[in-house]
Amino acid sequence: MQAPIAAYLEALHAQLAGANAGELASYIPELTKANPDWLGISIVTMDGVAYSVGDAEQLFTIQSISKPFVYGMALADRGQQAMSDKVGVEPSGDAFNSISLHPQTGAPLNPMINAGAIATTSLVAGRTTEAQWQRIESSIATFVGHPVTVDGSVYQSESSTGHRNRAIAWMLKNFGIIEGEPMASLENYFRQCAIEVSCRDLAYMAATLANGGVNPLTGQRALPAEHVGQVLSVMATCGMYDFAGSWLYEVGMPAKSGVGGGVIAVIPGRFGIAIFSPRLDAKGNSVRGIEACRRISRDFGLHMFQQV
Ligand code: GLN
Repeated sequence: MQAPIAAYLEALHAQLAGANAGELASYIPELTKANPDWLGISIVTMDGVAYSVGDAEQLFTIQSISKPFVYGMALADRGQQAMSDKVGVEPSGDAFNSISLHPQTGAPLNPMINAGAIATTSLVAGRTTEAQWQRIESSIATFVGHPVTVDGSVYQSESSTGHRNRAIAWMLKNFGIIEGEPMASLENYFRQCAIEVSCRDLAYMAATLANGGVNPLTGQRALPAEHVGQVLSVMATCGMYDFAGSWLYEVGMPAKSGVGGGVIAVIPGRFGIAIFSPRLDAKGNSVRGIEACRRISRDFGLHMFQQV
């Protein structure tokens, strides 16, 4: 017999399959090659079982969903105190590519906007930028539960067109937030955004956060338990860019989106949820990703501030 959760996901997929609002990200040509109709939904439970429907195995680039995970790495490597001098935890209410820096200190307002994420990438442990990259790649692999690869053409394209991010990295250097060579850290940021994942992989990453930092399938620790609450807090307040307030109000889960079309949401102690649907709204969030989470939240009473 089909598990009730699998039947629910089939029905949800059918309800959303016909919705076609939104546009593919087009700031680099590679992202326009996605099939706009792709729709995958995965839920991973704390016993490590994945329930998936639709295009859950299709690979795409993780983009900004990498940000909370790399923030966790930097917290683990530097400690919360040192991180708080460099990157804030205040929602900016601005777009993901805004240059939101504290007027006096130059610290980015939070690690989920590009400025904060680029600073965070520069703070991961490693004596060289290549060693820092190894740390990022292997830690993401621990969250996912298997090795990951980078989409070389997306990376090249991000790097050759990312002049706004380049300007942000130089601003961070100007304020002493980035200590080393800013262009080398920026390349690591571009590479981290171009890591390939499936919807199912993302659900395991979300489930690892839900499971206190331990991948529920492999049993490997990806993040020290003491930092999980900090990562989930910035996801709750800043994870959906300038939609974060409405998201928390309506859906009530820590979450993160990326312009590749992925969205993750975390129900601590219970589930990791991921949706892949590449049509985005004007704020850069997956349209059907948001709608799927709204329905899951409502149908299972998962809003974190609502007792049902
Ligand atoms: N690589 C993209 C950028 O830095 C990621 C943005 C996103 O997913 N919102 O602009």
